[in-house]
Amino acid sequence: MHMPAEGRAWEDVRAEMISRGTGDVAWRDGKTAVYIFNAGEDVHALQHEAYGMFMAENGLGPLAFPSLAQMEKDVISMALGLLGGPEGSTGAITSGGTDSITMAMKTARDFARAKSRSQGNHNIVIPRSGHLAFHKAAMLMDIEIRSVPLKTDGSYEADPAAMAAAIDANTIMMVGSAPNFPHGIIDPIAELGKVAEEKDVWLHVDACVGGYFAPFARMNGVAVPDFDFAIPAVKSMSADLHKYGYCAKGASTVLFRSAELYKHMPFTLSDWSGAPMKTPTLAGTRPGGAISAAWAVMNVLGVSGYREKQGLVCQTRQRIEDGVKALGFEVLGRPLLGLIAFRHPDADTLALYSAMRHRGWFTSFTVEPPSLHLMLSPKHAEVADDYLRDLAECLDAVRVGDAGPKVEARYS
Ligand SMILES: *Cc1c(COP(=O)(O)O)cnc(C)c1O
Repeated sequence: MHMPAEGRAWEDVRAEMISRGTGDVAWRDGKTAVYIFNAGEDVHALQHEAYGMFMAENGLGPLAFPSLAQMEKDVISMALGLLGGPEGSTGAITSGGTDSITMAMKTARDFARAKSRSQGNHNIVIPRSGHLAFHKAAMLMDIEIRSVPLKTDGSYEADPAAMAAAIDANTIMMVGSAPNFPHGIIDPIAELGKVAEEKDVWLHVDACVGGYFAPFARMNGVAVPDFDFAIPAVKSMSADLHKYGYCAKGASTVLFRSAELYKHMPFTLSDWSGAPMKTPTLAGTRPGGAISAAWAVMNVLGVSGYREKQGLVCQTRQRIEDGVKALGFEVLGRPLLGLIAFRHPDADTLALYSAMRHRGWFTSFTVEPPSLHLMLSPKHAEVADDYLRDLAECLDAVRVGDAGPKVEARYS
């Protein structure tokens, strides 16, 4: 496309955008279970309006926009309240989980340098199920990734003993997930905490997808094991607002046990031609709308709103769990939150995945072991029965080799 020489009418452009969108997954119908967190039209409208109110403002300028600075403080304080943050704990809003994880790693590295723990050849020790974002950040910072196999007992949990064995004097961080993305399983964070204490290593909990879910599941009576700052060895956490926080995209939180740790995060520069600058996160300009939308959604939903939504998601996960088991699927480990992965002993996963895609179900999948993967939203309560019915039919079709062509299962 070349830029039009003369501007086009907005009605035209708008119509074209709507028409382009018709080629996308029809996520509003609830048949998408990855990328989208559908908490209903009312939350969507709220995100939209609250984002628009501060869309032009810039979180980079706390002096110019004390409104955003205070909203960010409030969001961090609400986050720490939910995640066991002790007195003096702190953090920042970032653009997403990848930003939060990158900044946590940068902070841990600079902390290690300041403590002269290790000056080079840094490594981090993560479970094999740890998110791609750690690999990306490690690549950016020239940090070695030590990816440690999971336990082999069918729990799909990180293996604390194996992780301990991978740690050496150059290890600047170890990681547990709450939960991990591929299996939806919460790692044994308390045991990882013991390892971190013994080895004197920074423990980061990646609660990107669980940070705004697990606390409410626990309030609803789900037996969620300790996974947050309640464990003294946990130095930092990542928790995404734009996932189960049901906030507008472009918002996550990175949290630290103390200001002493946090101080290694912000980047400042006064030795250049321009005015002295301070950027707390990876971003320079920080979209005010992402901050204001997060603040608004958290205030409007409140604890009771989140409890209700996460309760619905847990119920739906349980219905799907029961339904797929009745069809002969094995559920990987014991999922407690909104993610679930399952496989069938005598059906090819990719064939099943493809057959479901042909019926309009857009989901992720897990590779180790090959499994179907769902990340559920409140909306899925309405379509769980349809999903199970389609899955039963697709299973039959796959078994008789009549499921249609396989889709390309890369980068889902
Ligand atoms: C989504 C996710 C991330 C990365 O977050 P983005 O917002 O996509 O950058 C990291 N870890 C886990 C467990 C996640 O689910």
